[in-house]
Amino acid sequence: MINRLAVFGATGDLTARYLLPALAALRAAGHLGDQMQLTGASREDWTTEQYRQWIADQLDRHGGSCPSGARKAIAASARYVRADATDPTDLAAAIAGDGPVAVYLALPPAVFPRTVAALHEARLPAGSRIVLEKPFGENLAGAQELNRLLADLVPEQAVFRVDHFLAMTTVQNVLGSRLANRVLEPLWNSTHIAEVDIIWDETLALEGRAGYYDQVGALKDMLQNHLLQLLCLVAMEPPISLGERDLRDRKLDVLRSVRLLTEHDVVHRTRRARYLPGTIGGRDIPAYADEEGVDPHRGTETFAEVELELDSWRWAGTTFRLRSGKALQENRMEVAVRFRSVPHLPFGHSGAALPNVLRFTLEPEGLTLDLTAIGSHAHELVPLSLTARMEPPGLPAYGRLLLDVLTGDPALSIRGDEAEAAWRVVEPVLSAWEKGLVPLEEYPAGSQGPEPRQWPGAAAVARTCSSVKDVPDETQ
Ligand code: NDP
Repeated sequence: MINRLAVFGATGDLTARYLLPALAALRAAGHLGDQMQLTGASREDWTTEQYRQWIADQLDRHGGSCPSGARKAIAASARYVRADATDPTDLAAAIAGDGPVAVYLALPPAVFPRTVAALHEARLPAGSRIVLEKPFGENLAGAQELNRLLADLVPEQAVFRVDHFLAMTTVQNVLGSRLANRVLEPLWNSTHIAEVDIIWDETLALEGRAGYYDQVGALKDMLQNHLLQLLCLVAMEPPISLGERDLRDRKLDVLRSVRLLTEHDVVHRTRRARYLPGTIGGRDIPAYADEEGVDPHRGTETFAEVELELDSWRWAGTTFRLRSGKALQENRMEVAVRFRSVPHLPFGHSGAALPNVLRFTLEPEGLTLDLTAIGSHAHELVPLSLTARMEPPGLPAYGRLLLDVLTGDPALSIRGDEAEAAWRVVEPVLSAWEKGLVPLEEYPAGSQGPEPRQWPGAAAVARTCSSVKDVPDETQ
């Protein structure tokens, strides 16, 4: 286990909201001892005392569920180094110390290549590990260049490309439900499954993060990484083990099987949009274009939807729809697996047999199965939903990830070839969007997103259903 963690970007939102509470949770659970040292490095002109106070304040705000002893221990273990993460001398000062160090780049993604290049000169101790946040690179060429820089610095096993969705208990349970039970896997193919919706809709708007988000947008912020990783877990062949090689090989197979979209496909099977003024939960939200720090001419999307097909024996004929949007009416974070309708109904026509939908709800954690049953009147078919709520996770996702980094298990991080394969899926969309082939639609903040399209090819997109009652019945 590595006992030194150096965080660059140590005064940022990620550090405050996720990394510090995760460290406190690890400490509270007994995973971190007194020997653990945290170095916070950023460009602010702070002292260690100021930084410790900042940590205490952030843990009060975001880590309130952790015992105060654990929070105090994390603050006391910290030292602050003022450092430009692109300067080799500054980097060397921040990672100075005995033994290997885990270097966490909690930085804007545009800074990663310069920091990794500078780390070459900063003399990283043997056995050190590097953690990079998402998105990994800004496009395929950027990811390839970053992979080359990293390969010259440390072995692949020491590179942790973070996707914290993979460490979420509910996301892990997509695999748990599939592979620890007999009932699902025989049906887990295109013969039985018509569509899969992988959705991360949130009520949160920009929340002051224009500096990062306006450069990135929904496609690169959510679909290129988190939602494609979810697709991998839903669609992968059962791995021999959940060890890093087996798991990541099988995920790579899924990414390689995605049929790359042509420009025609992008026009007909993707959407992008941004929010207009509106109200969410009684809060007035300005138009995205008017949010502070946004360049309205950049045309950054706050809503992205992409429909994919997989060229594989198991999945040919199933549609996978990935969607994420900000400033929407309600939080809806789920994987909804929609089964095909039954081939024959011996019940006459009273009521409809709705397609079964299995939903993995990611926040809050749960599982729902929509079935059809016979109601109190003979031959009347009624919907029946079975819902299970799961225990809250023992460790937050970032706690699990940090533990994996410190103990050296990269299974839940993205391998270099996976990161490139994910960009290969997204590049045709980015390129057609940049050419203006897909219009930037608009939706009021607090709405369900852009209106369904009116042209005939939009049927599949419009079929995205918010509840089982909205699902068209194929048997009619
Ligand atoms: P912020 O803009 O809040 O923080 C970025 C941090 O990096 C600041 O502390 C900033 O300090 C520092 N920084 C920027 N440039 C340099 C530099 N050259 N040298 C040293 N420090 C520098 O961003 P976030 O914390 O939100 O995001 C960081 C990363 O985490 C991104 O890759 C993002 O995608 C990822 N992430 C964020 C999530 C979140 O909810 N916030 C969730 C999941 C991932 P300064 O004040 O000096 O500019």
